[in-house]
Amino acid sequence: MIQDLRSYVLDLPVFDVHEHHMPEILGNQDVGLIELFWQSYGGWTQARPYPLASETHFEDPMFASVGGGGWEEVARFVEHSGSNAFIRNLIRTLTDLYDVGEDSITPDNWERLDTEIRRRHRDGAWQSEVLDRARIDRIITDPFNDPLLDAHEALGERYCSVLRINALAFGWHPESLDHNGNSAHRFAQQIGHRLDSFDDYLAMLEVLMDTMGERHQIGLKNALAYDRSINFDDVDEELARQAWGQRDPTPEQRKAFGDVIVDRLCGLAGERDVPFQMHLGSAQIRGSHPMNAAGLIDRHPKTRFLLMHLAFPWSRDLLGLAFVYRNIWLDLTWSALLCPTYFKQSLHEAIEVLPDESRLMIGGDNWHVEETYGAIHLMRRLIGEVLQKKVDSGYFKPDDARRLARKILSENASQFFGEP
Ligand SMILES: [Zn+2]
Repeated sequence: MIQDLRSYVLDLPVFDVHEHHMPEILGNQDVGLIELFWQSYGGWTQARPYPLASETHFEDPMFASVGGGGWEEVARFVEHSGSNAFIRNLIRTLTDLYDVGEDSITPDNWERLDTEIRRRHRDGAWQSEVLDRARIDRIITDPFNDPLLDAHEALGERYCSVLRINALAFGWHPESLDHNGNSAHRFAQQIGHRLDSFDDYLAMLEVLMDTMGERHQIGLKNALAYDRSINFDDVDEELARQAWGQRDPTPEQRKAFGDVIVDRLCGLAGERDVPFQMHLGSAQIRGSHPMNAAGLIDRHPKTRFLLMHLAFPWSRDLLGLAFVYRNIWLDLTWSALLCPTYFKQSLHEAIEVLPDESRLMIGGDNWHVEETYGAIHLMRRLIGEVLQKKVDSGYFKPDDARRLARKILSENASQFFGEP
């Protein structure tokens, strides 16, 4: 009897190419049910954790203190937002991991669940146990609260990280910050690099890249879709230089500054063969369409781009790009959590359109290990269902599907990022 693809995918080891695991959150022992909802995509159902261009005052709800607790706060997620896919996945995950004996969170069982979550979070071994249960061997994290963190040192052997470049695209003035509050001038202090001129600043980019290995950083991460448009074209270095040192440059000067820096970093990544992760879709929704990034990808054919989230909701445009530009790989992260139905349809199409089997990778894209466990389990389930359907329809043979499954879950990422 040939093993069903669905059960085959459930057992494979995973190389998780994208998380936001960081010490501030993973190391916090005071975590209960409400914190797990707020510090997950569940929280995004209540408040967007990044400001739109029209908004000024902003506090990331993920790091704000949460209320005193009570069923009303739980019901806000599991009832008021109970139809949302992030919430469905969290409920399924928490009732499974914490073994509450029921598959829903109710007025009768939530306190028991909360107590159990608190007990396990006081145990230093819990996170590792959850990741083992999820069969995740390696993790690339994006610790955006401290972009120069050595995640391997701080979080353990399973981890390495990417260097988030957002702050670098905003570094015209010591007080200019990205949407996470990071400052490029603080990076300069951290690495002991003096910044007296724009040329010093350009030189710092090379120093940052040359020291990535010391921090166990194995790629760059561009999440600028949360800060600005991802159109980095019309690179104008003269205009960028005009922004240098100004507290309040013009919008044109700001864009030019970011364009020059991102273009420069892509060039350096190509020369050094460092992977370049990039958030596409959603975020600042008017500027995050994948076609905006086509110019950057086109100008840097030697740079290996790992484009994220199936560019939700524009996966067909992304597949069009990935067929044309052969320096594109796809990270399926987040898209399955956002919309499982969309994910399955897009995966069917991606398998058919992409030029070879090396192009797809997975991750969780979460803050707590519980949601990571749930995200990876969900992806296993959906990938298994899609592959089984492809076999049933005669698209390819079970051996072809199993080979592709192994590649998507871990082998592609190992090859793309290299062995540790
Ligand atoms: Zn992410």
